[in-house]
Amino acid sequence: MQTNEHTVQYGTREISFNLTFSDRETLEIAVYPDKTVWVTAPNDALLDEIKDKVLKRSKWIVKQKRYFDRFDRPNDGSEYISGETHRYLGRQYRLKVIPIEDGEKETVKLKGQYLRIRTRQKGNSRHTKQLLDNWYREHAADKFNERFELCLQNLEKYHIPRPELKLYRMEKRWGSYTPSGKVLLNPELVKHPTYCIDYVIIHELCHTKYPNHDKKFYHLLNKVLPDWQKRKHKLERFS
Ligand SMILES: [Zn+2]
Repeated sequence: MQTNEHTVQYGTREISFNLTFSDRETLEIAVYPDKTVWVTAPNDALLDEIKDKVLKRSKWIVKQKRYFDRFDRPNDGSEYISGETHRYLGRQYRLKVIPIEDGEKETVKLKGQYLRIRTRQKGNSRHTKQLLDNWYREHAADKFNERFELCLQNLEKYHIPRPELKLYRMEKRWGSYTPSGKVLLNPELVKHPTYCIDYVIIHELCHTKYPNHDKKFYHLLNKVLPDWQKRKHKLERFS
């Protein structure tokens, strides 16, 4: 079976469809949940006729695509649309989702009180979330490295072994110290204030001396970060 992709122009939008021919009398159009459009035409149909028929059903095709858009939503309670509030380092920013042309570069930028997301797929919240998550991840890497160095300096006199720092997505934890000597930090933590990020880093660094939450561990934590409980509460309140 041969498949070819074609397009028709409907108002300002282009509708692409995959075309196959078969031994049938009438033309059939289907829109699948991945939002691809499939047209099956009779063997003797001409391309112009087919395009004409697709164009006549454009309104229906767009409606079907929109219907499937609804199932494309991320399941974190956010819609990733303009006006929505998202956090970075404890501050709130408004999303501004800006559509761009196919050849342009998709970007995320923090400007004033806005998080400006330039996307080729406006209306596809899963895609917008992906762009924003990548942005968070990049900024988490920078921010965590910077704070990690400062926290290490604070602990200098305790002669702790320098662990490796890694970003690692965890369901229910902000950080972790692995038996192989790595500090893992959840990239989601970058949505919280620096004050709380430092708490998580210092907590994990204290584990390099004392792996368990025992008296010695808390003794060290109290010495290095006397107000750790306040920071912990703040982190819990935000979450
Ligand atoms: Zn711990």
